[in-house]
Amino acid sequence: MTLEELADAVAEARQRTLELTGDLTDAQLMGPQLPILNPLRWEIAHVAWFQEKWVLRRHGEPPLRPEVDALYDSMAVPHDTRWELPLLSRETTLDYLREVRDRVLNRLRDERASQEDRYFGWLTVFHEDMHTEAFSYTRQTLGYPAPPFSEGAAGPEPPAAGGPLPGDVTVPGGSFLLGGSADEPFVFDNEKWEHPVEVAPFAMARAAVTQAEFAAFVEDGGYRRREWWSAEGWVWREAAGAEHPVYWRRSPAGWRRRDFDREVELEPHRPVLHVNWHEAEAYCRWAGRRLPTEAEWERAASWDPAAGRRRRYPWGDAPPSPAVANLDWRGGGCLDVGALAAGDSAVGCRQMLGNVWEWTSSDFAPYPGFVADPYKEYSEPWFHTHKVLRGGCWATRSRLIRNTWRNFYQPDRRDVWSGFRTCAL
Ligand code: FE
Repeated sequence: MTLEELADAVAEARQRTLELTGDLTDAQLMGPQLPILNPLRWEIAHVAWFQEKWVLRRHGEPPLRPEVDALYDSMAVPHDTRWELPLLSRETTLDYLREVRDRVLNRLRDERASQEDRYFGWLTVFHEDMHTEAFSYTRQTLGYPAPPFSEGAAGPEPPAAGGPLPGDVTVPGGSFLLGGSADEPFVFDNEKWEHPVEVAPFAMARAAVTQAEFAAFVEDGGYRRREWWSAEGWVWREAAGAEHPVYWRRSPAGWRRRDFDREVELEPHRPVLHVNWHEAEAYCRWAGRRLPTEAEWERAASWDPAAGRRRRYPWGDAPPSPAVANLDWRGGGCLDVGALAAGDSAVGCRQMLGNVWEWTSSDFAPYPGFVADPYKEYSEPWFHTHKVLRGGCWATRSRLIRNTWRNFYQPDRRDVWSGFRTCAL
């Protein structure tokens, strides 16, 4: 990846941050205090602070503004205080975002930029990409409208390309390499390093669980019957009073789902989303299925049995395009699980990347020989308390995602763009 590509990504990521927050009122930019989100006015400044810290101040530059460390350091500033802090005003925040970006671009466009500058430049791009996905689900959580730039993003999807995609594929067992390889241009610490893993043969659904399939579970008393839930899952369900997926509502005409600030009918062949790990697991028990382990997921996405090698992406080694994966807000939401056949993995699983994040059964844990990278708080604090999700969703940035990418959330999170696919018992 060249310096020019990095500079373009820095500018584009910042543009996306501004597009996802620029239309909101001052009150919306603060929003209610909830443990699962940040005030957006805090979060956009945090993105710039992180970039200033890792790209500019690593070289000994003084902070652009003296107060930023006390406000925007996510490890130092307790979460529940972020609504009460004397944050920069909206206007000053936007000035700060632009000033940091411009100084970073100057540094990165200087041909004397070092390998370290490049590493930390990409780190801050990917960090911003993860936050722009969070800005997206925060807008959903709070019932804000979809951002203006998404108008027209949901182009008409040819019906022939959509629909359901029932059935399983058989994935051959064997030993393969799990994790990031040293020839990747950028690898997060939790993917390091590739290591051989033995997987028994298994059968995996070709597609993610759909809204229609999940509705059958709900209608069959799925949330009322104790036997489908783990002990921990039932405790969560009772405490949350959950009777159905969080944004669903039963109406006389059938189930409806809140999509940003609108209510829509269920889209039967699109994946169920905003379900947590407990809900996914309960569905599996009801359906006589199970969640894949993350090694199984990665094998089904990456292993090419005919070639005897693994692929960087399900469809091969070429970067994502609209024909193979629904990413980058391009679809304006999820597509039918049967869409994008050109993106199938070698074993025949569809949409392993994009559309909806997929829960796995695996705890988020370090790979053998784990060593934390300079951004120490990225992975290590979350080991063993979070579950692994794979594959990215429609709002994930395409430059970020690949088969080895590990995401992780607490098992009770259902505000994120999470769904799942199942395996045969
Ligand atoms: Fe952050």
